[in-house]
Parts: sequence; C-alpha cells; structure tokens
Amino acid sequence: MIRSRVTMPCPDVSAPSNALPAFVERVTRPIEFACRDAFAHLGTVRNLDRFVSEQVIGLLGEQVYPRSVEARLLSLRNLFVDFHVRLSPLEQRDRLVKALGLLRELEGRPGEEDAGPGVDMREPSTSFVQSRAVRSLRDLPIRFAKGVGPKRTQLLERLGITTVEEALWTAPWRYEDRSVVTPMAKLSPGATVTVCGTITKASASKARFRRMSLLTLWLTDGSGSLQATFFNQPYLEDVLKEGLRVMMAGRVIAGRSGWTDLRLEVAQFEVLTGAEDELLHVGRIVPVYHETKGWTSRQMRGLIHGLLAEYGPEVEDVLPVQIRARYRLLPASEAMRLMHFPAPQTDLSRLDRGMTPAHRRLAFEELFVLQTAMALRHQATKEEPKRFRFRADAPQLARLEKVLPFRLTPAQDRVFAEIQADMVSSRPMNRLIQGDVGSGKTVVALKAIAMACGSGYQAALMVPTEILAEQHFRNLSPLLASIGLSAVLLTGGGKAKERSEKVKDLASGATQVAIGTHALIQKQVRFAKLGLAIIDEQHKFGVLQRKTLLEKGYAPDVLVMTATPIPRTLAMTVYGDLDVSVIDMLPPGRKPVRTFLFAEAQRHRAWQLVRDQLQAGRQAYIVYPLVEESEKVDLKAAMQGAEQIQREHPQWRVGLLHGRLSAADKERTMKAFQAGEIHLLVATTVIEVGVDVANATIMLIEHAERFGLAQLHQLRGRVGRGAHQSLCLLMASSALRMARPRVTPEGTPRAESTAQQRLEALVNSTDGFVIAEDDLRIRGPGEFLGLRQWGLPEFRVANLVRDVDLLEQARREAVALVAGDGTLSQPQHQTLKRTLLRRWQDRLALSVVG
Ligand code: ADP
Ligand code: MG
Repeated sequence: MIRSRVTMPCPDVSAPSNALPAFVERVTRPIEFACRDAFAHLGTVRNLDRFVSEQVIGLLGEQVYPRSVEARLLSLRNLFVDFHVRLSPLEQRDRLVKALGLLRELEGRPGEEDAGPGVDMREPSTSFVQSRAVRSLRDLPIRFAKGVGPKRTQLLERLGITTVEEALWTAPWRYEDRSVVTPMAKLSPGATVTVCGTITKASASKARFRRMSLLTLWLTDGSGSLQATFFNQPYLEDVLKEGLRVMMAGRVIAGRSGWTDLRLEVAQFEVLTGAEDELLHVGRIVPVYHETKGWTSRQMRGLIHGLLAEYGPEVEDVLPVQIRARYRLLPASEAMRLMHFPAPQTDLSRLDRGMTPAHRRLAFEELFVLQTAMALRHQATKEEPKRFRFRADAPQLARLEKVLPFRLTPAQDRVFAEIQADMVSSRPMNRLIQGDVGSGKTVVALKAIAMACGSGYQAALMVPTEILAEQHFRNLSPLLASIGLSAVLLTGGGKAKERSEKVKDLASGATQVAIGTHALIQKQVRFAKLGLAIIDEQHKFGVLQRKTLLEKGYAPDVLVMTATPIPRTLAMTVYGDLDVSVIDMLPPGRKPVRTFLFAEAQRHRAWQLVRDQLQAGRQAYIVYPLVEESEKVDLKAAMQGAEQIQREHPQWRVGLLHGRLSAADKERTMKAFQAGEIHLLVATTVIEVGVDVANATIMLIEHAERFGLAQLHQLRGRVGRGAHQSLCLLMASSALRMARPRVTPEGTPRAESTAQQRLEALVNSTDGFVIAEDDLRIRGPGEFLGLRQWGLPEFRVANLVRDVDLLEQARREAVALVAGDGTLSQPQHQTLKRTLLRRWQDRLALSVVG
C-alpha cells in the first residue's frame, strides 16, 4: 500500500456544539414535508435551493467541522443548487431522498473522525483539512447574485461560471476604448470614433439584388446627426428602434453628398437604457467578454459591475504581504477592479495582451496558489518514509555495465546518478526523466531496474502500446537474463493459460521484472515485492492509470519518462511536484534528421528519395494519419496506400501496421521489420512512440498538415536512430491555406498560424523543446498534447505562454514559502491556505500523482 492513513488532529471544537443538530432539524423539516404523502407537497415547496445553501453556509461559517461533516454539508448544498432550475420532478424526488440520507448521517455521527478510505498522505489537503471553514460570500453560487435568475444561472454555467468568485475572475478577452465620445458636430470622414445619440428614424428595406436586407438609422446627439447602415442583419430591426439611445463605434465615411452627409461604418453598438448604462458602457475603456447565446458581453459587464460593487471590497489578498511588497503588486481587490474596468488612459494593447499590472497581479496569484499546492505535495512525498532501501552496490548493476553494447553518454550518467541518489535515500523517488526522442532513456531505466531487482525487489515497466511493450521486452529481456533476472511480457493479448502463469510468477516473486501495457494494472496482477515502477512515454497515459499502478506496490519508487519535450513552463505546472532530470544529449554519432516539406505535385521527388534509401539497404516508414473521428476512412487510406505501394514496388516487401491488428499480427510485423524482412512499413500513428529500428532511415508522412507539431516530432524520432543520415519527408496536401483567425478560450485573440508555417517550424528545427514551445504557442496550452484531459489546470487570467516569467517567480516564492511554513499555519498564510483548498483541492488530487 502506498497510501498511508493519516490520523487527523482533533478539530478545534470550541464553538457551540449544538449547532449541528439544530441545523439538521431545521433543514430536515421542509425536506420531509416535501417528501410526505408520496411527495404530494413537492410542487408547493419553494426556495429550497436558497434555504439549504444559506443554512449550510451559515453553519460552516460558525465553526470548524471534521472533513467528513464538511463534505456532507457541501454535498447537501450541492443537491439543491439547481433543484428548482432544471430538475424534473423525478430527479427532485431522488435528490430529496439523498438529502434525507445525508441529514441522517450528519445527525448520526456529529464530529466523528472519518478520514475515509484512501486519504493520501501525498495530497496536501489532508495536512490541513482542519483549516477553519470560513466561507465568504464569494463562494456563493452565482444564482444568488443580484439580477441572476435561474435562466441566467444556466447561461453563466455554460461560460464556466458557477460562483461569484468565478465570475469575478473571468477576464475580459479584449477591451474597447470608448473613453472619448465625439459630438456628432465634430466628426470628420476617416476618423474612428465613438458616438452616443438617439435614433430618430429607422428604416428597413430590401435591396433589389440578391435579397439583401438593409437597415438605415438616423442618429442625432443634439450637436449634429449621422447615418448608420447595417447590411443583412434583419434581426437588428427589432433591436434598433426609433427613440432608443445608442452608443455606436466605428469609422466615419463621407456619404454621397460629402461632408454634410456623414455615415458610420458600425463596428460595435450598444443600446443604452438608463443613466447608469451611460456610465458603464461608454465614456471609458470597456471590457469585452466571451458571450454565449442569450448572454451578451454587455450583460456580463453589468453583472461584473454589480458584483464588484457588492463583493469587490471582500476580495481577499491571498498573497502574503512580503511577496506583494517584493514584487510591488497591487492589492487584489484593486487589481480585480482594474482588470474589468481599467483606469482612463490605460494602454489598450497592454490590456488586450493581458499585460497590465492588474492582469499580472492576478495571473501571479493564480500561478502562485497552484505552485504552493504543488510544493506542498512535493513536500508530503518527501516526508513519507520509504520502507525499504535499494543498494547502489547491487552486483547486477555492475554486471549490466559489462554487457551493455555501448558507453552511456555523460547526460545518461548524470541522470542515472540522480536516480540512484533517490533510490538509496530514505524518501520515495518521484522523478520524471525528460529526454528528446532517441536520447536513450531506456537504458537508464534498465539500470534502475537492475538496481531495484539486484536489491531484492521487483520492477514494472509500463508503456502505452503493445508494440512498444514487445519491443522493450525483446530488447531488454536478453540483457536482463544475462545478469540473472527474469522478465515477463504482459499485454492485453496472449493465451489465458500463459497469462495466468505469468501472473502467478509475479505474485510469488519468481519473476522480477514485468514489462507491459496497461494490462499490468489489471486487478488480477499482483506483485510480491514491487519496489520500482517505471512509466515510459508517460504523456500517453491517463492519470488514473498511473495512480493504479502506484497502488500495486507498497510505495514503489516511481520513475516516469517522457520523450515529449514538454516545455519548461508546462513541466513546472503539470509536474510541479516531481523532480525532473533531463537527458539533454543524444548518443554519439547521431546525425540530425533532415526534414523536407513536399507539396502533392512533388510527390515523385519524395518517392525518389525513399527509393534511394531502400536501394542503399535502408528501410522506410510511410505514415498515415489516423484520428478517431474518421478512423474508418483513415484506416482505409492506409490499407489502400500499402497495397498501391506494393503494386508499384514489387521488388520491396511492404508491411502494414495499425492499431486494429491483433497483438500477434502486430508483433509479427514489427519483428519482420526489425529483422529487415520488411523494407517498407506502412503504419498509422501506432509507431509514434518508442519504436526503435536503427536501419530505418527515411520516413514519409502523408497529410502532415493533419498532425500536431509535437506529434510530428515524435514520429520523426523513429528515424535517425543509427549512424546513417536520416530523412523525414512531410507530404502536405493542398489543404495548406486554411488560416483563419480564432478566438481562444484563454482570452487572447490570435491568428492561427497556417499549416504551412507549422510544418516549416518542423523543417527548421530538430530540437524537440523548440518545437514544443512553438506548438504550445500555436495551439495554446489546453490543446497541447491533450493536456486538458489529464488535468492541466486551466487558468482564468494567467497564460502559460505569456506569463512564463511570472510562473517562475511564483514557483520560487511558493517553494520558499512552503520550506518555511510547511503546514501553512502562520497567520499571514491563512487566506492562502483557504484559497488553495477551495481552488485546487479536488483538481490536484486528480491531476497529479503524489
Ligand atoms: P528514447 O529516449 O527515445 O527512449 P532509446 O532508449 O530507445 O531512446 O534509445 C535510442 C537508441 O539509442 C537505442 O537503439 C539505444 O540502444 C541507443 N542508445 C542509447 N544510449 C546509447 C549510448 N549511450 N550510445 C549509443 N547508443 C545508445
Ligand atoms: Mg523510449
């Protein structure tokens, strides 16, 4: 078991102890009423949502409760948050029954200690779950905010806003300078202006040609007048009516009769209602937010304005005062206000880029809170004692040195030394090895395995694909055998009988090393003495699988390896709690892969290069894209491609490899390719990770524009693994000119780089880190390698690309803070501690392996 139960300190039960029973009684009453007579009164019960929420918040504000109680209280509140908004009567009944269950539990064991199963020492949460449960109004569900009814609650939820705090942290994605309102008498053609006025006449007409609709408005502001025209927006006829006051911004152009006939090319407009509006939406720099159908930026502006007035002063300063002083950061509440409603004359381009002091203050806070959580986790790992030690002088390690066919590079030696230091120490190892494709991570892992097994423990090496598992097994098991260690291969396939033999041998300890896919973490698989777990090509795994593997052993040392050159900034965020070693050097004699981009019309030239290599005795990969959504079509393309290539090149043997083949077929094909019996391997992205055939020196990638940059780099890493000069040919179809500006959820407008530019980045660099940075910049952190799915936190203000410097500062400060106050118990850290719990508790437990 790697999970150690934590005995929790006794809660501070100084407050009145009868609050909970009274609460239970108060809340049970209306719920029971609603349930009575087969829910006969359900229809008449109102405001349960508000009532329960207020009661819960009130109770939590009074006193500290054990975590189990707190959790139940919050669950109770959650049951009712959307109770009247969108639940069917059936669902409502279900909720009521659940609520009664919770209430009964609360009544039954007030104050009972219950850490629950699986409380993990490595999660920072447990070290201070007893923190005082002061709940501020900002935790309020957004539906309790002024002017937000059930309908708006739903709309806001679509934008990811469920609480007042989340609303306040929603950064505008751009700003508009409406600070100067130009009187209409002062307009001149060519100027870009904001005007305010009244619609004196609105006229809709249909243009004769092409069924074009036209809406013309006449505006006046007392000083002068102006015409504005809208094409093909018939719905505006209902919005822009005579008598309304409006703000319009755009460019002034001269009409047919010149200066006296001015028109506005409207870029933005807003209808103004009431005096307040005039202050909020014009005459200042205004924030523009993401919209969703039924919820406009303008409404959001109004909401935020109200929230700032009501809760703004309450915005707590999470950052300790010393840090604020050191970086001269604005107070949180002021930063919040200025982010939404910037001071006059704030530089608009800085605002749009999120580079004002206000933005940076808030981004720093977000990053700092996360980094503190990471630092706490890291510390918790370090504090957990290891129940065993590995021996650096294990004889198998020395023997391995002798049988290895090459000398390790200095980088490999250094990284292994770091691993060794972890393994002999009394603290568990939790280390990430980063190394570009081909940098030789496997042999470093092998040495760690030799050390673990030589010390009397078992080791597991888990990889994401069967092909890779088989390859590792093929390469490693002879080496392991020669130093007296036995290994088994466990993948999804294989005969049941063989499999159960293997499982038995692992359970008895007869086999020391298990190499396999996620089959390794299935229930039946048990280890006698798992001391080391290595996860190769870590980025291909879901987080939960990692966790499960860890649970297989008694706190095994953990080594995760990734060939994906995760940019530093991301590594710090995703792996903030791991130690990182980098193999920053390729084995000697490698020549960088030369990469070329070909258009469809140049296909014959690309193929000439392929033939040249084959004639020289080398082998080739032809790679086809395969995405899940169009899997059938993609598979067909790969199969047809293979057939055609075989027809056209009868002298070469063509193999086909894709994910749908049986394990046995895959293995047969890979073996044949490895042995040189297959000359041309047509494959889908199953070969993306790990595959290592040194004689394969050329790779042709079909539809290269359909791949991500980092993925292409991985693929390219399959060649250039021996002493021969290797080539990578990117075939890009005609779909190259697809550039379209896009709005990212991060709130920074960006123009998507063209496929051409992306591919050129690959042609120009063989440095995985450079490429990954490009990929990150182009695709944004959320999409980068699908990081979102394994829990990369999404920030509301911070941007991992833009705010690299802040991230580094935040990390430094967080590490220092945790080093000085590992339990966050100093008074000046209390706000931080609360925020941390609130913001990251759930997500951290999910996103990071301790
Ligand atoms: P990756 O880091 O991509 O997993 P591998 O561990 O598969 O890389 O190594 C790539 C190739 O380089 C393998 O064929 C391996 O045997 C070889 N190799 C690894 N280290 C060295 C070294 N120090 N000298 C020469 N070849 C090496
Ligand atoms: Mg590898």
